[in-house]
Amino acid sequence: MIVVMRPTATDAQVEKVRQVVEEHDLEAFVSVGQERTVIGVVGTDLDRVAHIGLLPGVESVIRVTQPYKLASIEHHPTRTHVRVGEVDIGLGAGLVIMAGPCSVESREQLMQTARVVKREGARVLRGGAFKPRTSPYSFQGLGKEALDILAEARAATRLPVVSEVTDPGQVPLFDDYVDLLQVGSRNMHNFVLLRAVGQTQKPVLLKRGFGATIEEWLLAAEYILSSGNSNVILCERGIRTFEPSTRNTLDLSAIPVLRERTHLPIVVDPSHGTGQRSLVTPMALAAAAVGADGLLVEVHPDPPNALSDGDQSLGFDDFGTLMDELRRMHFLPASAPGPIPAAPEPGLTVGALRHRIDAVDGSLADLLQERTRLAIAVQRLRDPDASSHDLHREEELLSRAGASEGPMTRTELVNIFGSILRASRSAQRRTMRQEIPE
Ligand code: PEP
Ligand code: MN
Repeated sequence: MIVVMRPTATDAQVEKVRQVVEEHDLEAFVSVGQERTVIGVVGTDLDRVAHIGLLPGVESVIRVTQPYKLASIEHHPTRTHVRVGEVDIGLGAGLVIMAGPCSVESREQLMQTARVVKREGARVLRGGAFKPRTSPYSFQGLGKEALDILAEARAATRLPVVSEVTDPGQVPLFDDYVDLLQVGSRNMHNFVLLRAVGQTQKPVLLKRGFGATIEEWLLAAEYILSSGNSNVILCERGIRTFEPSTRNTLDLSAIPVLRERTHLPIVVDPSHGTGQRSLVTPMALAAAAVGADGLLVEVHPDPPNALSDGDQSLGFDDFGTLMDELRRMHFLPASAPGPIPAAPEPGLTVGALRHRIDAVDGSLADLLQERTRLAIAVQRLRDPDASSHDLHREEELLSRAGASEGPMTRTELVNIFGSILRASRSAQRRTMRQEIPE
């Protein structure tokens, strides 16, 4: 801390500042300049002289170190990782996906979700047991019964489990059931709870308070760290701003800011961060791109009928698509091919079936090129100044494609033909630009 004296400060006023600093077991280094005097204050508890700016002759007080210590990058210049069950989160561990329902609603719902998210590549299972709902009339969670169900899912899938603890009295109970204690956004300032989770050695997922600054969030982490628990993971889950289009404003700039200030691992929750299913995948990808160590995603077997947060929960297909996208962009490793299963049809091995698929793909590519050549030939015969796509024929094509029988759904086929038509029109336009001088 640096105390800057006014140019008019007297020697007695400088001496008084030095005296107050030393009375509080801190050291004072007085430096007399031509214009003014500055006093460097050094020690661990600078808060003891928080009032020093009020002394006569003091112009300003500048803090040069962060108010949090154990959480700071100065304290620990290399990033840390935290072990949750058998899963590392943080430095060197790659992106870890935590997924599951907002609330545990039934044994069947959780077991089914646990199996699906595990198959898709999630490494930690989430499920709320005690729900801190905004309204006292909303579903409050199944409580202890949910913890029993989570324990069963953990045993069946071997996924470690994260669940929210809402009361210091629950901590011993959670110790037996949960691998990662979540402190929710509404409890980030609950210092009694922070101290209680700080007195265990269980990893803690500390969500950002929806009205908290990054500094307040790191000070909340400091409560846990200074109580003796060094296993803290931060979770950005959106903050409240003036923007009503999303449930919260997911503050992704917090991730690089945190990287400059703290060594702790950082997870992003795009579900609570946006509140809308359609926004979860894009923001999850963006979070991975800005360097999140993990993602916390709500997944439900039947989102429209979920007892909590259905609007922001991904169904199983959407979650599978998110995981595919994360792999396609290399945020997650490609899944290992695994052992080749036995032949599904007598006489046809997996190798032979894949060979046939390659041949079909080759023919599809050739057919698409042929289709585009024909479309270009049509374009050459058409009035170049008229936009004369035959929309009626295109609609017929889409409905014919959608009606064809097979394992693909109508929506999947219509999406593919939509892409073919768009690509074909691009090829037509390109040809016309090249052939007709402007
Ligand atoms: C949750 O993850 O279930 C939850 C309640 O989140 P938050 O504390 O971020 O609102
Ligand atoms: Mn939720």
